[in-house]
Amino acid sequence: VRKPIVMANWKMNKLPSEASDYIQHIQKPLLAYPEIETILAGQDVLLDAMVNAAQGTTIEIAAENVYWKERGAYTGETSPAALADLGIKHVIIGHSERRIYFRETNEMVNLKALAALRNGLHPIVAIDEQIQIVSHSDHMHWVVNEVIEALKGINIEDIPNVVLAFEPTQSIGSGQALNADQAQENLYLIRQTVSDMFDAQIADRVRIMYGGSVKPANALALLEKPDIDGVLVGDAALDANTFLELVRLA
Ligand code: 13P
Repeated sequence: VRKPIVMANWKMNKLPSEASDYIQHIQKPLLAYPEIETILAGQDVLLDAMVNAAQGTTIEIAAENVYWKERGAYTGETSPAALADLGIKHVIIGHSERRIYFRETNEMVNLKALAALRNGLHPIVAIDEQIQIVSHSDHMHWVVNEVIEALKGINIEDIPNVVLAFEPTQSIGSGQALNADQAQENLYLIRQTVSDMFDAQIADRVRIMYGGSVKPANALALLEKPDIDGVLVGDAALDANTFLELVRLA
């Protein structure tokens, strides 16, 4: 069985002091839900404070991006070795905001996923779906291709450490989540692609999240679907009590 995940992606929305307060607020209530994996992702400047605040709790911390080289003259980038050294466990790779605003390509996503694994970080690879895709077959091709390109060259034994997240661009921050059936269809397609690339047993172990306007009102319907193992939550998870509510629902 796959352990469910409730994950907050704070994006660029919190200050270091707010991050520590949030973690202090949720840490005790979370002890009642050991069967749920809870992950918080914050911008780089919060990570040190987040790791410290989460020490000794069940909360895991994720970075929102990483570069694919360990060291060197790459001003402004963040090294996967530095993230690991700081005590970071996960890193989001290829979020649709990175793909769209910062022109990340499938090739960059793949390099980042490989670099994360090389340094003992668990990549959370985001698969997006852009609004301009109109036909069903183009859509399927887009999703399958993103999965194939992202996971290329990863050793089969590393695949269980990879988490995938499907986040349709038009659902992010819009209040309009995909309905649970559509989300399930896409996550099933992603799992089938992992199965085709590696094998069915591995695909059965890989966790896949849905993200895009998840909130308490729609989380249950999503999480009840067989291939939806977790939710990746932006806006709604900025509030600590709403995050706790989502964990309760999961
Ligand atoms: P929203 O929950 O704000 O739609 O954001 C989803 C997201 O991008 C999580 O990574």
